[in-house]
Amino acid sequence: MIWNKARECMSRDELMTLQGKRLVSLVKKVYYSVEYYRRKMQQEGIEPGDIRGIEDLNKLPFTTKEDLRQASPYDFLAVPQSEIVRYHSSGATTDTEIVVGCTRHDIEVWTECVARCIHMAGFSKNDTIQIVYNYGFLSEGLGIHRGAEKVGASVVHSPINNMENVIKIMKRLNVTGIICAHSNLLRIGRIVESMNEMKNLKLKAAICGAELCSERMRRDTKRMLNIETYDIYGLNELAGLGVACDCKYHKGLHIQEDYFIPEALYENTNTVAKDGESGELVFTTLQREGMPLLRYRTGNQAIITRDRCDCGRTSARLSLLGDKINDMFVIRGVSIFQFEIEDMFERLNDMNARYLMRIYAEANLDMIDVLIAIANFGGTLPAEEEFIRERVITEVRNTIGITPRVLFTDIEGVQETAIGDYTVVDERK
Ligand SMILES: [Zn+2]
Repeated sequence: MIWNKARECMSRDELMTLQGKRLVSLVKKVYYSVEYYRRKMQQEGIEPGDIRGIEDLNKLPFTTKEDLRQASPYDFLAVPQSEIVRYHSSGATTDTEIVVGCTRHDIEVWTECVARCIHMAGFSKNDTIQIVYNYGFLSEGLGIHRGAEKVGASVVHSPINNMENVIKIMKRLNVTGIICAHSNLLRIGRIVESMNEMKNLKLKAAICGAELCSERMRRDTKRMLNIETYDIYGLNELAGLGVACDCKYHKGLHIQEDYFIPEALYENTNTVAKDGESGELVFTTLQREGMPLLRYRTGNQAIITRDRCDCGRTSARLSLLGDKINDMFVIRGVSIFQFEIEDMFERLNDMNARYLMRIYAEANLDMIDVLIAIANFGGTLPAEEEFIRERVITEVRNTIGITPRVLFTDIEGVQETAIGDYTVVDERK
């Protein structure tokens, strides 16, 4: 199913002409309205008139995450604040996150992109779609919601903090499509399997974004829910989820090229990688009004291919490399995901402690220590030490099948062993 045939199936020549036209007016716009770009272009001796089409793209300066982080949310706005109807952020509400301002038109473009993606995964007005994202400062939930409504589907939102409730709603409303993060889909799958609810569900497919999926996760989902999974890609800096999505042939994610020009650049040389070869993924936003970006370096490694897909779409396709959710550990032959360990600690966390799992090898045998940091730990332990120890041992044994050594310490003790905020340290690597 193709939502916008005129755009998604246009010939490559037509597409490049359209991109060129849009690029020329974008460059004029940012030169005269965004101080950062005017300065950068002047430093490199480029004037808006030097950009006459898509072939001049490589003359333009790059934009980096660091540039956006160091700027105030207003520095990159190409319109007056009065035109901004919504702000989103690339992360939690800390000072270092990138804040993106959207105009009404930006929201409409984003909605169109999401509608194309949802249709690509086979959903229409005959479907009931459940969105399992939080609708916060981050952009996933709201953008997806409007796109699903544009397609005409019946849309229901379920917050992610109660997966059993998600399944109840799914059952009650005969939900046929779910849109969520891959790790949450796996969580749902495991609960459905344990409740033996599969027979009562009408699910056909899932669209998963915000995380990349490993093949194992895709297989596990297929086994547990018997549904097909589609990947959706996007960055808050560009628009949110909806920049690209895969079709039923799963040969890379179709990029909405009338709105975003993709480039893959070879490391160090910054030259454009050949089709099918990997490079750093760079995007130029062609129709963003609020915060347009020239050659934004995403930091992701990807392969772009432009051969025609069997689905009939002519757009370039994206295969993202690295950083997949391969956070899987094999301990004495048992596979376990990082999030399963985090869930386990979550179940234990009624005494407000910090947990850390240390995996190491001793005489070629995998071993586990669980470090428990209790606030104000003064070397003596509460009377219930044995009770806590037994609970932790039971949880770990039930989850992984191995009896851990449990060590009580203070926060500093955990921080010395931990790497950042991670809850698992695998010292065998
Ligand atoms: Zn396709």
